[in-house]
Amino acid sequence: MKKEKYNIGITGATGLVGREFIEILEERNFPVKEIYLFASENSFGETVAFKGKDYIVDALKEDSFKKKNIDIVLSSPGGSVSAKFSPLAAKEGAVVIDNTSYFRMDENIPLVVPEVNPEDIKYYSNKNIIANPNCSTIQMLVPLKPIHDRYKIKRILVSTYQSTSGAGKKAMDELFYQTTGVINAKNGIYPEKFPVQIAFNCIPQIDVFADEGYTKEEIKMLKETQKIMHDKNIGVSATAVRVPVFFSHGESVNIETEKTFDIKDIKKLLSEAKGVKLIDDALNDNPDERYPYQTNVAGKDEVFVGRIRKDFSVANGMNLWIVADNVRKGAALNAVQIAEILIQKYL
Ligand code: NAP
Repeated sequence: MKKEKYNIGITGATGLVGREFIEILEERNFPVKEIYLFASENSFGETVAFKGKDYIVDALKEDSFKKKNIDIVLSSPGGSVSAKFSPLAAKEGAVVIDNTSYFRMDENIPLVVPEVNPEDIKYYSNKNIIANPNCSTIQMLVPLKPIHDRYKIKRILVSTYQSTSGAGKKAMDELFYQTTGVINAKNGIYPEKFPVQIAFNCIPQIDVFADEGYTKEEIKMLKETQKIMHDKNIGVSATAVRVPVFFSHGESVNIETEKTFDIKDIKKLLSEAKGVKLIDDALNDNPDERYPYQTNVAGKDEVFVGRIRKDFSVANGMNLWIVADNVRKGAALNAVQIAEILIQKYL
C-alpha cells in the first residue's frame, strides 16, 4: 500500500544546499513523516526549524541510518563524505538523492534533471542512489532540451558567470569579508576558498585543472550533458568563471543546430517549456522585463532565459543568456523534484 508520508534524512543539513532542502520541503508541502538531520561533528546539537518545530542536528556516523526506516536521503555533505555515507544509507533501504559530484558519472546511477530525463529515475533501484547534476549543467539543459528535441543541437559553447554560493557558505563569507576589507582599505585580503581574490574580480577557474587546459567544472558540463541527454555526439566547450555575486549563475550560451530555425519559433518554444521563464524584451521600459539578471532571479524556481538572437557567423547558430538560482534549481529544488517523482511513481 502506498505511504501517505515519508521519513526523510538530510546530510549536510547545515550547509547552503541542506538548508535549502529544508525550506523547499516545507514550501512544497512534501509529505514528511519524520525528518533526520545530519552534518559534521562541529554542528552536533545545533537546531534547525522545519514546519515550526526545532530539530536537533546529529553528527553523521556510520550507524546514522540504522533502525530509522528512512525512505529518502537528500545528501549534500561534499563528495568524499557522500562517497562513504550515501552507500550506507542506500544499504539501509533509503533512496539517496546525492548532490555531490561523486556518483554522477557512475553508469549504473541515473543523473537526472526532471524537466529533461525524468524517465531515468526508474533506474534508482540499481544502487538506491540518484545523482543530481552540477548546478551549471542543470540550468543549461532545462531550456536547451526542447530546442534539442526539435532542432537537434550539434554543439554548445558556454561561458559561465557563477556566484560564490556555488562553492558553499564559507565561499560566500570570503566574498563578504574581502569586499568590506577592500572598501575599508584593510591589509590582508587572503584567498582561502578561491585561488585569488574574489572581491571586485572574475576568476577563470572553478575547481582544479584537469585535461587539456580545462577545469574539472568545465569537463563536468560536457560529460554530464552527454549522459543526461543520452547523446554522445553533442559537443560542449565550457569556460567556467567565478564572479563576485552571492546567488545565481549566469551563462552565455551559443549553440549550433542541425535543422534550421526561426528565432520567433524558438522564443515560442521556450515560453511554453516546462521550468523555463522567458524574459526577452530588450526595449521594454521596465528593466526587469528586458532580460534576466542574477539578483532578480535569486530565490526563484525557474530557469530564466533572455537575449535570444541568431548567431550570424555560422549556419543555424543562436545565442542565449541563461540565469538560475544555483542553490535552488541548481541543487536543492532539482533534488526535491526528483523526490516528488519518486514518491508519485515508485515508493
Ligand atoms: P556548504 O555550505 O559548505 O555545506 C556543507 C555541508 O556539509 C554542511 O552541512 C557541513 O556540516 C557538511 N559536512 C562537511 N563535512 C562533513 C562531514 N565530514 N560529515 C558530515 N557532514 C559534513 O556546501 P554546500 O554549498 O551546501 O554544498 C554541499 C554539496 O553540494 C557539495 O558537494 C557541492 O558540490 C554540492 N552542490 C552545491 C551547490 C551550490 O550551489 N552550493 C550546487 C550543486 C551541488 P557543518 O556545517 O557541520 O560543517
